[in-house]
Amino acid sequence: MSPTPTRITHLVAGAPWEGTAQRTGPVYNPATGEQTGVVDLASAQLVAEVVAGARAAWAGEWAQASLTRRTQVLFRFRELLNERKEEIAALITAEHGKVLSDALGEVTRGLEVAEFACGIPHLLKGGYTENASTKVDVYSIRQSLGVVAVVSPFNFPAMVPLWFVPVAVACGNAVVIKPSEKDPSAVNAVARLWTEAGLPDGVMNVVHGDKEAVDALLTHPDVASVSFVGSTPVAKYVYETGTAHGKRVQALGGAKNHMVVLPDADLDLAADAAVNAGFGSAGERCMAISALVAVEPVADELVAKIAERMSTLVTGDGTRACDMGPLVTAQHRDKVASYLDAGVEAGATLVVDGREGEVDADGEGFFLGPTLFDHVTPQMSVYTDEIFGPVLSVLRAASYDEALGLVNANPYGNGTAIFTNDGGAARRFQHEVEVGMVGINVPIPVPMAYYSFGGWKNSLFGDSHAHGTEGVHFFTRGKVVTSRWLDPSHGGLELGFPRNA
Ligand code: NAD
Repeated sequence: MSPTPTRITHLVAGAPWEGTAQRTGPVYNPATGEQTGVVDLASAQLVAEVVAGARAAWAGEWAQASLTRRTQVLFRFRELLNERKEEIAALITAEHGKVLSDALGEVTRGLEVAEFACGIPHLLKGGYTENASTKVDVYSIRQSLGVVAVVSPFNFPAMVPLWFVPVAVACGNAVVIKPSEKDPSAVNAVARLWTEAGLPDGVMNVVHGDKEAVDALLTHPDVASVSFVGSTPVAKYVYETGTAHGKRVQALGGAKNHMVVLPDADLDLAADAAVNAGFGSAGERCMAISALVAVEPVADELVAKIAERMSTLVTGDGTRACDMGPLVTAQHRDKVASYLDAGVEAGATLVVDGREGEVDADGEGFFLGPTLFDHVTPQMSVYTDEIFGPVLSVLRAASYDEALGLVNANPYGNGTAIFTNDGGAARRFQHEVEVGMVGINVPIPVPMAYYSFGGWKNSLFGDSHAHGTEGVHFFTRGKVVTSRWLDPSHGGLELGFPRNA
């Protein structure tokens, strides 16, 4: 018999919410198919109460906290996160399904943003110009925004929130985060660490929910900014609604990431990379490689090498020694599986069929094995759609220019990679490709925390990428002070526009 589902609720002002939710949602263990949790879904009224509490905590305390104090909290948070990373990884695997080592990798990449944010005093240093005009000094400062909202997707339940929260908190803001309702427990575990680290109550809040909670954040007058990560249609909606309500918005959307393999590439390394980047986390990564563009004459050999490697992959419960876990829900698994029929009907060659093969798990998990299509053309839905599952499509191009043209014609522009031993070709690609994050012999080029993460075109609405200096910029607003300490030489009337002298 299945255990009674655990209740997962909001974290408001450092403590679990004590109310009774009008609406709830199910949370599953995707490896067994069992419902393990029931998550409270916030009403618009609750969101308003949480925003009011966050604003009071910001205005009353955190906006005034010294950089020394903020940094101490950040360092302590970093230590706690590092100590508890295994615990958080286990929560991710239990609700998302990705294998434990991958979940641990996710927390580690999030930890790097906390480490970056520990350097906030340096990052917030402004400019100072002495004597810009006679006895006039000019300097710039950056101040916090107030209450900032973060809305995150299911596929990185710990890392994506960590792209934003440490930077937002370090910059002096209060945060309300609305994580994915599909795997809500990891965010709660990380949020509790902030309280333990000494962050004042109310500065960090978690509201669980769905569209109702997101809409409440997008339209609330005291929410200053929205950092969203999710699918493109929702990202566009969030950007348009949030900006129409006067907020600054960074909305990161979906992806279709191409890996271009030139004829001079080391095909064994390229095949390893394609398998790792195509099927890691069951393809549920916004930086997953889903389209491989083989520049002829290497396609046949490359496809054979990829298929050979795929035959060694073990799909199963992420807590066991498997390479790939399940998909997040039964509905998503069915949707991804429907593309296998669609690809075959459209005329693509199904080289490896993920519906076949063993699964190392108990129960009725949401599994689909790794799938490989060859001879895919740009018109087929397996290419045009973001499938977000373990389906890799191989397209064949006659030349570098044709391959580049394909990448640049795609409406998404999140990540891309080129595999080659020709430095000149790689350099040309990095310049010519219209994509935000580029890998050269690196299939998943996720930038380090001190650079900024974000795509182009339909992969990002807004102009700020996540973390790095762009993150600091997003979570602060600039002020320039022009100062003159008066003495008698400054007397007299002058109604003209101030000129420098
Ligand atoms: P999603 O768009 O369904 O949900 C994202 C968030 O938006 C969730 O918190 C959800 O509750 C909320 N939401 C869903 N529908 C909404 C609506 N109609 N109105 C308001 N809010 C709504 O995305 P997902 O399925 O959780 O995540 C997968 C998607 O996220 C993929 O498309 C993937 O490429 C993308 N993603 C992008 C990046 C990136 O950096 N560009 C990173 C991770 C994931």
